[in-house]
Amino acid sequence: MGESSVRLPARDVPVLREVDVLVAGGGSAGVAAAVSAARTGASVLLVERNGFLGGTMTATSLGGICGLYSLVDGAPVQMVFGFAEEVRARLAAAGGTRGPLPWLNTASLPYDLFTLKSVLDDLVEVPGLGVLYQARLTDVLRDGGRVTHAIVRGREAPFAVAARVFVDASGDGELAALAGAEAEIERGHLQFPSTMFRMGSVDTARAMGVTREEMHALLERAVADGHDLPRTAGGIYSARDGIVHLNITKVKVDGRSPDPFDPESLSRAEREGRAQARRYLEVFRRYVPGYADAFILDTGTELGVRETRRIVGDRTVTAEDVLGERKVEDAIAASCWPIEEHGAGRATRWVWMSPGGYCQIPYGALVPRGLDNVLVAGRCLSATHEAQAALRVTANCFSMGQAAGLAAVLAGGRTVRDVSMPALQQALAAAGAVLAPRPEATIDA
Ligand SMILES: Cc1cc2nc3c(=O)[nH]c(=O)nc-3n(C[C@H](O)[C@H](O)[C@H](O)COP(=O)(O)OP(=O)(O)OC[C@H]3O[C@@H](n4cnc5c(N)ncnc54)[C@H](O)[C@@H]3O)c2cc1C
Repeated sequence: MGESSVRLPARDVPVLREVDVLVAGGGSAGVAAAVSAARTGASVLLVERNGFLGGTMTATSLGGICGLYSLVDGAPVQMVFGFAEEVRARLAAAGGTRGPLPWLNTASLPYDLFTLKSVLDDLVEVPGLGVLYQARLTDVLRDGGRVTHAIVRGREAPFAVAARVFVDASGDGELAALAGAEAEIERGHLQFPSTMFRMGSVDTARAMGVTREEMHALLERAVADGHDLPRTAGGIYSARDGIVHLNITKVKVDGRSPDPFDPESLSRAEREGRAQARRYLEVFRRYVPGYADAFILDTGTELGVRETRRIVGDRTVTAEDVLGERKVEDAIAASCWPIEEHGAGRATRWVWMSPGGYCQIPYGALVPRGLDNVLVAGRCLSATHEAQAALRVTANCFSMGQAAGLAAVLAGGRTVRDVSMPALQQALAAAGAVLAPRPEATIDA
């Protein structure tokens, strides 16, 4: 980008709404936050830049919801409930999932993309909850430690929304960063992104019979034959006959993780991701049983970015907290997902907790330092690079969003630091969340 600059003229914008809680971003964390806050009777506005909800789940498209289950004695045991359970149950009732799929030392819940979009559209039908699609948060106004207004832009002129509390569920920590919160982002050392894609005309009965080990061996053979594949293992799911979803690309720009805030770097990454999808199609057709007639049905609407800003909060979760299965007094969620780090090599680095083990996510990791009425939820929480690699999965984002939405209401006109932990934990329990899951009880039942 060039060195010179221009100055934007100052302008007045109308204040179109005043609400109790404004939620920026309608991904897994944002939907959970907005719905949970509105269900208490609060007035809530959810602002989402896409024309649909779900964020990475639906825009990038994931094969499955991760973080719901721990694998105990080879069987998936559900560990995360609350809002995540509600989404699971609604997906199941709508025929959008065939149930948990065990793999490695865990299991995830494959889902049908359109069914999930519909489930989320239905979930936000709550009195007092307004949802603006195709509306982008572009700025905030701040008075000392309090954000007073969010500036939002639709297709035309910007407008302002006043709120008592703001929940940043943008994934990128955008609202908090605009408000001046400190953030960590290690450009060039971020987790590598992936372009997700689906293949159609797959003989899924055969294809899904190929084990992860067999797939790895077949793709390694393709590499030995000269095919340039960035990964030789990945997630392959099927929620519908004939269609598979693949999480198997790894996108680099000049050998490094692309800069998610540099449009040129990101644009090269988008093209490279689709080029990789074409390469995998060729290899799968030739090497892997069940794919002879396959074609690429679609790619996600955007490259899947795993990590951008991590907002610095009152507490920062570390790898030791995750792997030590740490329990905390200000717990707002239980997380059983391992560290899953998509680094530079062909393999993903997995570091596991014990079967049925979990750590707790502290409320302090949702509270940006220096701000009084802002909470973050989702993948931009306060965590180190390694801890974020575990906590960012969607079941956890649902949990964090649910907690942030309820805490925003409890904070009311006071600061988010005034929220009573017993009151928040009680509200979470009443909403079905389980902060101390007991897998042994589930197995015995
Ligand atoms: C390639 C890839 C594969 C993954 N695989 C899995 C998997 O298989 N299973 C799993 O559970 N997890 C997986 N994850 C992790 C998981 O998908 C994400 O960490 C999680 O979905 C993040 O949720 P979130 O709500 O924090 O943020 P996001 O999903 O990023 O949602 C943020 C939302 O905010 C909106 N937004 C952003 N900025 C603005 C703005 N300025 N104004 C208005 N709206 C805005 C975005 O459009 C988006 O809808 C994967 C992630 C990636 C990238």
